This record gives sequence, C-alpha cells and structure tokens, in this order.
Amino acid sequence: MAKIGILGGSFNPIHAGHMRMAVEARETVGLERVLLMPAGEPPHKPAQGMLPFAHRLRLVELAVRGVTGLSASGFEGTRSGPSYSVDTLLALREKMPGDELHFIMGSESFLALPKWNRGLELPHLCSIAVVLRPGADSASIAAFAETTWPGMERAGHGRMRFASGTSLFTVDMPVLEVSSTDIRRRWCERRCLAMLVPSAAEEILERGGSAYEQAWGQRVES
Ligand code: ATP
Repeated sequence: MAKIGILGGSFNPIHAGHMRMAVEARETVGLERVLLMPAGEPPHKPAQGMLPFAHRLRLVELAVRGVTGLSASGFEGTRSGPSYSVDTLLALREKMPGDELHFIMGSESFLALPKWNRGLELPHLCSIAVVLRPGADSASIAAFAETTWPGMERAGHGRMRFASGTSLFTVDMPVLEVSSTDIRRRWCERRCLAMLVPSAAEEILERGGSAYEQAWGQRVES
C-alpha cells in the first residue's frame, strides 16, 4: 500500500509556496508521491480571473518535471461542476483502492473545513496533512481538531488519530510570502517572476497569450 499525497488548489498559477508545501509534506509524512491536482472549477474562488483548467494544469506539469516524488494530475478536469474535495476523494478512493491517501492543506484551509461542502467528512475518507502557515502551530491545530472531531487521540510527533482511524499530521514549512494573487499582479505589470514560480513555468508565463490576458487582465506594454 503506497502512501500518496493529494495537493489540491486553484493553482492560478502554481508558485514556489505550493511546490515547497508539497515537498515538506512528502518528507514529513513519508509519502511516496504527491499529486498536485488543479481544481476543475475551484468552489471557493470566483470563476472570473481563473485561467482555463488546461493552462493551469500545463503549468503544474512543467513545474513538477524533475522534482523527486511530485507529479501533476489532471483528475479534476475530467469531472464537471464545482470541484468539491469530498467528491474528489471519494472518486480517488475508488480509482486507487490500494493506496493510503493523504490530503494536504494549508492551515488556513484546514481551519475553514467546517464551512466546506461536507468538509467535516474528509477524515472518514483519508488522512490529512496540515502545513503550518503563519499564525498557526501544532498546538492550535490539535486544539481545533479535538473540538471539531470528537474522539481524537494524540499519537505523538505532531501526529493525531481521528476516531475513523485516519491520521492528522502537522507539517512545518519555512514561510514563503508568495500567492497566486501576487503573481498575477506582477505578471500584469511585466515584473520578473524568477524564484517566485518554478523556472519551467516561468518561461511559459513570460510568453503569456490571449488566454492569460482574458483571465488576468491586460499586461502593460513592454
Ligand atoms: P490566490 O492568491 O489566487 O487566492 P493561493 O496562492 O492562495 O491563491 P491556492 O491555489 O488557492 O493558492 O492554494 C492551494 C493551497 O496552497 C492552499 O492549501 C494554501 O493554503 C496553500 N498555499 C498557498 N500559498 C502558499 C504559500 N505561500 N505557502 C504555503 N502554502 C501555500
């Protein structure tokens, strides 16, 4: 049984924070592979300003090239309607019955799970790896989990167990203050994106094109 990580996001576009998050989760949890999975229709983001799925996936595919243990997955592009994580995980469990799935999320997303569509059901479907973002630590994540899911047990070394038998991990990560919102703004201003986005994706972003301008707005003249 392989331990597989699933990192979902709008990836509009993918950036260094997403990449580092995948690497840290893989090492801390001991995952064989992390699948970076752009959402088909991100349910928590406005459709306006969203680069079409195929472009977001292409950037992720370029980004993971040559990075040990990371892969791109177009799985959510095959399904229509909003990409709710609960549906994705149910479908993945059917597709990968022999694997132990770990859903990777930033701490701010984890704390918002009660507001997600059937978000509280996620621990019934998979383990969860919470990557600590500024303002969160393992103690605050543990306290939140204990009040939100009754019957949790502490298993030591930043690990807890849900009553359903799956695990909750906390993952430390160096703070990288980068966001897709900031990348899109810099892109429109024709600023250099080096070190903020994976270098293979940088080239294609620099080239741009009409799909990018339609989604992110017009770039300043070069
Ligand atoms: P936007 O700026 O468009 O809202 P974003 O940069 O927050 O996007 P998402 O694709 O929405 O990126 O994020 C997917 C996942 O990546 C979330 O779980 C989020 O917590 C995490 N994440 C985003 N940016 C960072 C970062 N700089 N460091 C660590 N994790 C991050």
